[in-house]
Amino acid sequence: MEDKIREVARLIANAKKVVVFVGAGLSTESGIPDFRSPGGVWDKYDPADFDFHNFLTRESSREKYWQMATEMYEAMRDAKPNAGHLAIAELERLGKLDCLITQNIDGLHFKAGNSETRVFELHGTAMHVACLDCHRRYERDPIQERIAAGDRAPRCDSCGGPLKPATISFGQSMPERETAEAFRRSAECDLFIVIGSSLVVYPAAQMPVEAKRSGAKLVIINRDATPCDKIANVILNGPAGQIMESILQKVKEERV
Ligand code: NAD
Ligand code: ZN
Repeated sequence: MEDKIREVARLIANAKKVVVFVGAGLSTESGIPDFRSPGGVWDKYDPADFDFHNFLTRESSREKYWQMATEMYEAMRDAKPNAGHLAIAELERLGKLDCLITQNIDGLHFKAGNSETRVFELHGTAMHVACLDCHRRYERDPIQERIAAGDRAPRCDSCGGPLKPATISFGQSMPERETAEAFRRSAECDLFIVIGSSLVVYPAAQMPVEAKRSGAKLVIINRDATPCDKIANVILNGPAGQIMESILQKVKEERV
């Protein structure tokens, strides 16, 4: 493990363009459950209730969705960035981060100090709510106050359209600008680091493949195996926070 940490630190120190790609596993150490681990979201809820078509067409699905989304949001709202988030923010401060592509919706990268311009949120954000008809955006907390007061599926003040957390559900299209930019930067980087993602959700999981095909080195830091392990240059299986903290310490040593 020690050797691999040193190797990754050296790769970062020598790279010109580092892209970091993260999934729900980065935030489990902040107390936010991921989807696929035991005790994760899929153990508790039916994936059909996350389906966008159902949300659009049935009031009962919208109510169910808001009930689940409220539970998940409560875990996210008060969560604090962990050592992994802080290490990625530190990479940016050191000038070693081209961009951060995140599948997470918890807003923790911004709490850790990453800047808006460097973060691409592929699956949107739970910190805002959007009207599906007129696209008006709202802060999340005031909408949660309506829920707490008994509104089971809130509607837009401007047009009466259905409100939904500004996250991407199954069956809902990915944000165009973020997805295009994430693919472009994946193909242009020379080091691509995956942290805490099972790499089974597409098209996001295509990005490490794209990076590798374009000549980048690929590092995977994840507790469990992933389908991309066979093309990775370095694989670190373990807790993301601790591993990232150790890597960052070595990066700083390499630079002095
Ligand atoms: P996933 O649930 O499919 O996989 C998470 C991976 O992280 C697993 O392979 C697991 O082995 C690993 N992992 C868990 N804890 C870890 C730790 N402490 N250290 C290292 N590895 C750890 O997550 P995914 O691939 O990101 O995709 C699921 C989708 O769920 C994403 O699209 C995302 O939008 C959504 N989601 C987001 C959040 C969040 O914002 N925090 C939480 C749950 C789900
Ligand atoms: Zn509206």
